[in-house]
Amino acid sequence: MAEKLYLTDSYLKEFRARVTAIDGNRIYLDKTAFYPSGGGQPSDSGTLVDEVGSKSAVIADVEKSGNEVAHIADEGHGFAIGNSVLGRIDWERRYAHMRYHTALHIIDGVVHRDYQGGITGGQIYEDRARMDFDVPNMDKAMMLSILEKAQEVVNESHAVSVKFLGKEEALSIKELSRTDPGNELLRKLDTVRVIDIEGFDMQMDGGTHVANTREVGSISMLSYENKGSHNKRVTIKLG
Ligand SMILES: [Zn+2]
Repeated sequence: MAEKLYLTDSYLKEFRARVTAIDGNRIYLDKTAFYPSGGGQPSDSGTLVDEVGSKSAVIADVEKSGNEVAHIADEGHGFAIGNSVLGRIDWERRYAHMRYHTALHIIDGVVHRDYQGGITGGQIYEDRARMDFDVPNMDKAMMLSILEKAQEVVNESHAVSVKFLGKEEALSIKELSRTDPGNELLRKLDTVRVIDIEGFDMQMDGGTHVANTREVGSISMLSYENKGSHNKRVTIKLG
């Protein structure tokens, strides 16, 4: 099983690892800081270079494959099982994903605290993020006020930390998983990874986040779409 370094240290940009398997252009390592796409957060990109710098691969896509992580090289790479590699993730792209991911949790937290209904989906990009809402009577003015309240939380500089909770403790926290209200997934886990925006919101999550809400910066609305009475979509941009 690959050790997933990004689960405990989202600021790790470089790491050393060993190649454990190769399947064509898919390179598997014993540990990795590369985030594989999942939970609305896109995968990382970056490079793998061997110890002496004679072999290298540009990693354009990363996928979870059971307990392993496949680093997909965009062309021939020459790596072999047992090689030591230096991995380096494209930090600008990753950090943008972290800022947007935390911003979405803050918006979700505001909706959860102050409104009925909730968020039904979301997708993070490097330069924007979108969220889908099923909140009664939502209109553009309500959406703008949700974003204003989210901005207040950003400005309050809450620490953001990763916690690993036992199942019983996780089940005792109300609505830790907004997308799984019956906790069906949670019940299958022994340990639950939680993103704690301290003093504001806790959510079960597998993604990478900034360490303090102030790193999110300024939130603005790029677009608001009415896609039906139970489906409103907002796209945000961070500055
Ligand atoms: Zn999340």
